[in-house]
Amino acid sequence: MRILVIEDEHKVAHALKEGLEYEGYQVDLAGTGEEGFYILNSQEVDLLLLDLSLPGRDGIEILKTIRRTGMILPVLILTARDAVEDRVIGLNSGADDYLIKPFAFSELLARIRVLLRRRKNEDLLRLKLADLEMDFVTHKVKRAGQPIALTAREFELLEYLLRRHGQIVSREMLAGDVWQETNRATPIDNLIDVHIARLRRKIDEPFEKKLLHTLRGVGFILSEEMP
Ligand code: CA
Repeated sequence: MRILVIEDEHKVAHALKEGLEYEGYQVDLAGTGEEGFYILNSQEVDLLLLDLSLPGRDGIEILKTIRRTGMILPVLILTARDAVEDRVIGLNSGADDYLIKPFAFSELLARIRVLLRRRKNEDLLRLKLADLEMDFVTHKVKRAGQPIALTAREFELLEYLLRRHGQIVSREMLAGDVWQETNRATPIDNLIDVHIARLRRKIDEPFEKKLLHTLRGVGFILSEEMP
């Protein structure tokens, strides 16, 4: 399990890193939001510990950007005792939990375990992007609470895109991973495009906010933001 700590106070950051590594977590440190985003975009992070008072972009801005781009990792915010407002804003901006500084390390560990366990269960059972939800127990898809009927192939295709939301998915990837077609002598690009069009008609067309975008000549991306 990999934890990213965005905290500008060196002493605090290093104490957290040392303590968490002792507990078996892999820990990356970032002193600013920019460094944090670099790490979030370059590797898989399971949980973010986010200090709210940072130089430059503050924690709330970082948090909002993370949620806007559709990243679903759990975020635990760290805030000063006198900043009650921050706590409320933080939770409203998409934080999963908060701790008031100074806190006991054992308390931090307990919160982290809860968040990671919750995430693990959610990951296995359902995926969500904006108001689009996929449930793998019932095999149902919903958008804005309305059920959407998909064929088995469309379900697979959507799952593939949703597990990689925010990333570009090429036709080549879809051909190999969803259609298991590795022989490029039989191009199935048209078949893929037909399925994408059908999926789009079902999950996007009736709704104002579009999630499935085509990048001409590159592939597709499922994202809340226009690529
Ligand atoms: Ca700070």
